[in-house]
Formats: sequence, C-alpha cells, structure tokens
Amino acid sequence: MSYVVPAEGLTSLSAAELAEKIHSREVTSREVVQAHLDRIAETNDALNSFLHVGAEEALATADAVDKALDAGEKPASALAGVPLALKDLLTTTDAPTTAASKMLEGWISPYDATVTKKLREAGIPILGKTNLDEFAMGSSNENSAYGPVHNPHDLERTPGGSGGGTSAALASGQAPLGIGTDTGGSIRQPAALTNTVGVKPTYGTVSRYGLIAAASSLDQAGPTARTVLDTALLHEVIAGHDEFDATSVNRPVADVVAAAREGAKGDLSGVKVGLIKQFERDGWQPGVMEAYRAAVDQLVAQGAETVEVDCPHFDDALAAYYLIMPCEVSSNLARFDGMRYGLRSGDDGSHSADDVMSISRAEGFGPEVKRRIMLGTYALSVGYYDAYYLQAQRVRTLIAEDFARAFEHVDVLVSPTTPTTAFKLGEKTEDPMEMYNFDLCTLPLNLAGLCGMSVPSGMASDTGLPTGLQIMAPAFQDDRLYKVGAAYEAGRNK
Ligand code: GLN
Repeated sequence: MSYVVPAEGLTSLSAAELAEKIHSREVTSREVVQAHLDRIAETNDALNSFLHVGAEEALATADAVDKALDAGEKPASALAGVPLALKDLLTTTDAPTTAASKMLEGWISPYDATVTKKLREAGIPILGKTNLDEFAMGSSNENSAYGPVHNPHDLERTPGGSGGGTSAALASGQAPLGIGTDTGGSIRQPAALTNTVGVKPTYGTVSRYGLIAAASSLDQAGPTARTVLDTALLHEVIAGHDEFDATSVNRPVADVVAAAREGAKGDLSGVKVGLIKQFERDGWQPGVMEAYRAAVDQLVAQGAETVEVDCPHFDDALAAYYLIMPCEVSSNLARFDGMRYGLRSGDDGSHSADDVMSISRAEGFGPEVKRRIMLGTYALSVGYYDAYYLQAQRVRTLIAEDFARAFEHVDVLVSPTTPTTAFKLGEKTEDPMEMYNFDLCTLPLNLAGLCGMSVPSGMASDTGLPTGLQIMAPAFQDDRLYKVGAAYEAGRNK
C-alpha cells in the first residue's frame, strides 16, 4: 500500500487548484475538507502525523466559507476554504497544544497564536495539530513523546524533523497546506525528505506570538505545501507586522506571490546563483550530490549564471548553533516548572515546592530536551559563559558576514538541503552528534536570520528517495526564493 499522495481525487490537487474549484463553486469547501479528513482517517495509524484532528472545527470553518461564497461574497483570501495542517507548536484555543511533550499533554491555550488567527481570518480550515520532535528539538521526529512519524515514501524511515508531522501530511495527501517552524532547519529539512516545499521566511517577518519558544533568536514559522505557488499564497496569509511580537519587523512583506508567478515562466536570465564551496563535500551521499549537480545544471540551462562562493565560517556553524540553541532553550523552558501550567507531579503534600518542580520536570521532559537544558545551563554559567556562549555569538557574527560577502556577488545561494536522503528510524538515535550533523546545510541561515526554501529536486538515483534543493536569499528578499524556486520547479516539470 502506498502512502504518498494519491494520483487522483481532491486530495491529489494543489491548494491553488482546490481554491479555484471552491471559489468557482465547482466543489464546496466542506467536500474538500471531508476528503482530507477521510484521507487522514485512512492513513494516520500508519503515519502518526496528526496528534489531534479537529474534524468538527474544520468543517465548521468550511461551512462558513461555503455560506459566504454562496451569498456572493468575495473569498476572504486566495486560500479561503482550503484546509491546512498546523504544527502542534502554535497555540489554538479550540484544540490542545502539546509541543509533542508530556509536559503539555492536554493543555488548551487561552489564546490563538497570531499565525493561527491569520489563518482563521483567511478562512483556512485547520484540520488538526501535527506531530513534531518535543519542543521542536530534533531532526527525525523521534523525540516526540507521542511516537515518531513515518515517511510516506518509506514507512521505515523518518519524514525529517522537527516538522515531520506536517511534511508527512503533505506528502501523503492528508493536507495540501501546512505550517511549520524552523529554528535550524525544521521546515526545510523535512520538506527535502518528503518531496515537498518548505520556506523559512526572514526572521521577524512572521509573528512568533503564540509560537512556543525553543530558541527565540532563531525560531521562525513558515509555509509548507507541495508546490512553490501554494507556499507563496500561504506566505502572504501569515506574514506581516505584529505588535505582540517584540522582534516583529514593521515593513511591507515582499511580494512573494507575484515572484512565484513570474518564476513559473521559467526564465532565470540575469540571475546570479552562488554555489557554496563548503556545501559540496566528499562523503555526502552520491545520489544527493548527483541530484544537486543536475539541479544546478538546470538552473544554468534556464539562464542563470553560477559563481562559486567561499563561506569559511560555515564549518563552525554547527558548533555555534548547538551552543546558542541550548542556551536559549535552558532559559525559555524554565517556565515549565510544574507550578503555573502543564504537568505537575509529586504534589502530594510530602514534597517541597522545589521538589515538585524537579519531579515534574524530570517526568515531563524527554531525554533530548533535558540534554539541551543541561548543556545550555552549563554553557551560560559563571566561569563558562565567555568560553562558550560569547564565543558562539562571535562565530554567529562571522557567519552573518560570510553571507553578506557572498550576497555582494550573487542574488541567491543554493546547496543540497540535506547531506543524505531520509534515514531509517532508529538509525541515529544512539548518537546525538550524528543527528546534529544532519542539520549542517540548513542551520547557518537561522544564525544569520535570513530566508531559505527547500524545493523538490527529484529522487536520488541510489536510494530512490526524495532530495531537496535549498535556495537562500538575503533578509527581506524572500521574493527571490519564490522566483528561483518556481522557475526551477517549472523547469523540472517540463
Ligand atoms: N534539528 C535542529 C535541532 O534539533 C533544528 C530544529 C528546528 O529547526 N526546530 O535543533
């Protein structure tokens, strides 16, 4: 039995196609939502991608959209009526938000995340909340307290992480649209492993209000789908300034939809593409490198000019990330103390408040989250702060400078999104360093706060599994991702 998106029927269509059918009243939003709910019912036992399905709520939104359209009203957005899978790291008042942690099991937020609110205003039915690595820490979805997600292309393999639930939902036809979050690659990496598109927007352009924080200076929510245009349409819905997020940037959102439509014409003449020397390594999977080189050749055939660029500090990005990220985690996750909300354990009258906190945290957090809290607390402590945290911050500056230098000469940078195709569940769980190494290509971008996309680049010839081309652009130039991504997609589908 295949779990990849069916060849026909409503669940095989792109979001743009579904929107057109709904808005022209060829089908109702209810029919479209119901088809996806049926697909979820059929496949979720095998995939474990949804932690919570909100059938009633999704159908109620669909009915409201249908009613408005039947009354002759204009659709609330280009995607009104098209359903979506929401990563369970964003708060919702009508469904639990768990962050895939035992710590928040059953917790219902008193408020909607700004992203959630924007989806509702756009008339997008939310099918449910998707599985992830606990508090978005991980690269394979195996750190979820609710079991791993399985890759629809091969059930024994990971769909990537932390956003494995969303990527599996897209790849299997459970949903045409998804929201992910990306701290070091959690949108782009699962996209690459599942033959889907994922975009990490420029830091500060999509509100983090109601996005449960892992590492606040790195986290960014973004759109995912099966086509570049769908991703652009969703990007337009969720981006924009928000007074509830202190790091939100108040400037106009790049016209990503126009860029995707322009790119779809397939012409890349005049576009300069940088190839990062540090991201072409011996030892990476031959099938992945082959797909990458074929992608570059295709960009050139479409008119792009390529230039090799040197980003020497990218070699230190992994070490810097895995200090800065845990440091911020140790601070952000201090709020889960068994007192204010979430799991409380040991409160039987025989323990002190301190003990209740320890017992609750010991029970509520999984091993990877504990590892990062301890690592971060250690690195931030007096006597070690300068040697670790401060040093990592300096490296972060050097990485941002590498990017800035590269973008003096090129419009976008490209690389493989991941060093290999999807690995087997269990293959890397014993060795955290092996797992961390998988993020090599994606995390420099987060350290610099820029924007990036992963777009499908075909099946690797050696494993037969999906590969992704990563495209990176300077801050606030997210439209460049869409132009190049859509052009590449159009060229590949020709
Ligand atoms: N895999 C990386 C990590 O474990 C990135 C996770 C993410 O982007 N949320 O930190």
